[in-house]
Amino acid sequence: MSRFTLPRDIYHGKGCLEELRNLKGKKAILVVGGGSMKRQGFLDKAVNYLKEAGMEVELFEGVEPDPSVETVMRGAEAMRKFQPDWIVSMGGGSPIDAAKAMWAFYEYPDTTFEDLCIPFNFPELRQKAKFAAIPTTSGTATEVTAFSVITNYRTGVKYPLADFNITPDVAIVDPDLVARLPVKQVAYTGMDALTHAIEAYVSTLNGPFTDPLALQAIEMVLDYLPASYHENKVAREQMHYAQCLAGMAFSNALLGIVHSMAHKTGAAFSTGHIPHGCANAIYLPYVIKYNAKNPVAASRYAEIALRMGLEGTSEKSLVNSLCEKIDEFNVILNIPKTLKDFGIDEEEFKSKVAKIAELAVGDACTGSNPRQITPDEMEKLLTCTYYGTEVDF
Ligand code: FE
Repeated sequence: MSRFTLPRDIYHGKGCLEELRNLKGKKAILVVGGGSMKRQGFLDKAVNYLKEAGMEVELFEGVEPDPSVETVMRGAEAMRKFQPDWIVSMGGGSPIDAAKAMWAFYEYPDTTFEDLCIPFNFPELRQKAKFAAIPTTSGTATEVTAFSVITNYRTGVKYPLADFNITPDVAIVDPDLVARLPVKQVAYTGMDALTHAIEAYVSTLNGPFTDPLALQAIEMVLDYLPASYHENKVAREQMHYAQCLAGMAFSNALLGIVHSMAHKTGAAFSTGHIPHGCANAIYLPYVIKYNAKNPVAASRYAEIALRMGLEGTSEKSLVNSLCEKIDEFNVILNIPKTLKDFGIDEEEFKSKVAKIAELAVGDACTGSNPRQITPDEMEKLLTCTYYGTEVDF
């Protein structure tokens, strides 16, 4: 049995933020992050639309990037006091992820993070509130996914929460909100979206419901990401939709080891955080070469290359063309080709790679990767991404 779950309504198009006017309820809590939406006037707009819907509105502001357990608990407490029947979250991935976890603790105060960390083990939500999500970046697609990542800063552990209960009821995908996204974020989040679509397409859980979404997303990223990076408004709008389609695919087909590696290297080095989408962009071509040793995966990658209109007379040459295309995109988007070029210290890398490899193999995304990987192979693969050497195993 497979399950395919999406929000009940996905509004898209310029200005569709105003759909908040049509939510039916009495009280809405609006969960947001930093000040960029406030500065651009979208926060006021959202509040006013909710008031036009006849709702009493309370704000929960200041959700930090990589939201903490404490923030989630504070938000849940605010919800218990206010008793909203709508939770509306607006932001990059973080405020939406935080609001998803707040929702569970609002409805089930006695639940624990440990319980929620067991995949697909959430209690039945929607007893008290429904959930609307409004993305303000173009990559994570958390507005349509069953996932949320919460960080415990005391232990340094990131909790990936996964359950279809936290797939939002309503997603509002309004390109006006990403018109002023900084270009670096356009690059990183755009490559995150491409990675979502490619990993979902080759995942062991791929299928007829997710494949068309993944392929469409890949084609749109190919058509629009460079122009979006160069601040073309039409392209930026299309990228906002492409990342959402990719999210619809990977929420149901899951991901692979590009994400496992990005999760476990993101905060591993003293030289600084590797942004999620940047890490994915670096690892993606190496992982494709590794996975393509599996014949089923190779034919899936070749299908992607054909859909992209790339050159190649054999599966092998099509897979190579796909990797070259990704390299080309990384050059256009100013993304380095190796961890060394990113600025990771060589001695630190060498001293940590074995442990990182072990953790990456244990990541939740490894299970649906099309080729099984051992910690030894993972260490070799990570080493290739450090030096830019050929993946030949
Ligand atoms: Fe991602």
